[in-house]
Amino acid sequence: MKLILKILDARLDALRCFGALMLMVSMLATQAYAQNFDSCIASLRQTALSQGINANTFDQALKGVEPDPDVIKSYEYQPEFRTPIWDYISGLVDQERVEDGRAQLSKWERVLARAEQEFGVDRYAIVAVWGVESNFGNIKGKRDLVRSLTTLVCANKREAFFRGELMATLRILQSGDIAAEHLVGSWAGAFGQTQFMPTTYQRLAIDFDGDGRRDIVNSIPDAIGSTANFLKKAGWLAGEPWGYEVSVPGNYAGPSGRKTKQAIAKWTSLGIKPVSGQDKMSAQTSLARKLPDTTQAALIFPAGSGGPAFLVFRNFDAIYSYNAAESYALSIAHLADRMKGGVAIQAHWPTDDPGTSRAERREIQRLLLARGYDVGDADGLIGTNTRHAISDFQKSADLPVDGRAGQKVLSALRQAKQNN
Ligand code: CA
Repeated sequence: MKLILKILDARLDALRCFGALMLMVSMLATQAYAQNFDSCIASLRQTALSQGINANTFDQALKGVEPDPDVIKSYEYQPEFRTPIWDYISGLVDQERVEDGRAQLSKWERVLARAEQEFGVDRYAIVAVWGVESNFGNIKGKRDLVRSLTTLVCANKREAFFRGELMATLRILQSGDIAAEHLVGSWAGAFGQTQFMPTTYQRLAIDFDGDGRRDIVNSIPDAIGSTANFLKKAGWLAGEPWGYEVSVPGNYAGPSGRKTKQAIAKWTSLGIKPVSGQDKMSAQTSLARKLPDTTQAALIFPAGSGGPAFLVFRNFDAIYSYNAAESYALSIAHLADRMKGGVAIQAHWPTDDPGTSRAERREIQRLLLARGYDVGDADGLIGTNTRHAISDFQKSADLPVDGRAGQKVLSALRQAKQNN
């Protein structure tokens, strides 16, 4: 027994030594980083000046800037929980967002009509991008763009890419289009109502309210016009649908994937046709019916061959270029359909535990709070705290532990409340 204690003691000493050593290493690293940070800024200054950015603009923007350790954490974050597509879409396309979107469609009707006319882009797609990107301007991000981007460049994280974004940010400041205090956004530098990256802003933002400034932060017409311009430049075809849900023969083993395009007639010959119930989706279906049989389409299975299937056209690719993920493009496309009065996705996702709406997520959080779990505000946003609380609750209730805010956890929490 004594021997074991001695060994433990020795181990503890070793641990203490190791701890002190690590502390020293980390202090030295911090010191080295601070020195590097200063010389990094000096070199950025040279780059900026050589690219036509005024010394004054640079010095003002970078005055007293310090690295933001949270930005590095976000860059290096490896999600502990993977979000399945049915969770992703059910949180982005719920009844609440459909109704909020319809309210915005009516509020900004004249601006949207003008954007539709000028760019040929469907107003529902524009509003859907706005709703998914920032919840109609409610969640735009709060991090100082100059600070975040400087941190990333100087920590050597995708250095060339983020340096380009930083230079673009400095140009925005120099132009006076958007004031420094409004240039805040996500840790990676996306900002404004429609979460453009600074270089995207440089290429594609427009002044759509005619005040002479391109301001996608404070001007909703500018954000609407800029999104329409983005989608048009990405190849949007006026009057075409993005695609529609299809049924696929059970033994289907033919081609699929967003890049494998062939004529609708060819897909039809393989037994692929609009799902029944699609008739209820009048707007989309009538658009689709007008398409010539020769229109090129791709067949996608966003959750694998056991889940819903869609035939998608050029406009789906245009949305995809906004953010390169099928789950993202499908959320935008589906939200646009739902705002038009279209039905929910008909086929079941391949899960026995479907996702929840934001209202249901808030309910999950309220029920967890009532049981004493610390999940912060019941805001419907599922972060690390909520996921850990869900895992703990699942353990205590003998449920499979996955930390997901799915329908099963919601039912179990409701049941537990009744039993108390
Ligand atoms: Ca403007």
